Amino acid sequence: MRYKVGAEQLQQVPSLVHRPDTVFRVARTAAVGPTHAVCAATGAAACGIKADQLQVLDQDWEAACFVEKCPGCFAVAITQCEAEADKR
Ligand SMILES: [Zn+2]
Repeated sequence: MRYKVGAEQLQQVPSLVHRPDTVFRVARTAAVGPTHAVCAATGAAACGIKADQLQVLDQDWEAACFVEKCPGCFAVAITQCEAEADKR
């Protein structure tokens, strides 16, 4: 995991968990609004905003398809991917 999900705001979202014999409700923590890519190694946000204002979730930002992504972070993440590919 290179980037973790950094959310500006979090909310508890109720969701249903389906098990073979039962269905129950759990509260899941979800990001509200755009999320930022927080470097797993340095803890800094990719686009340069202050990471101490963010709630960092232990989730892979690049794999998180259910959230809105900050365009600045997205551009940096893509650029770094290309830079790493160039080194090979
Ligand atoms: Zn950002």
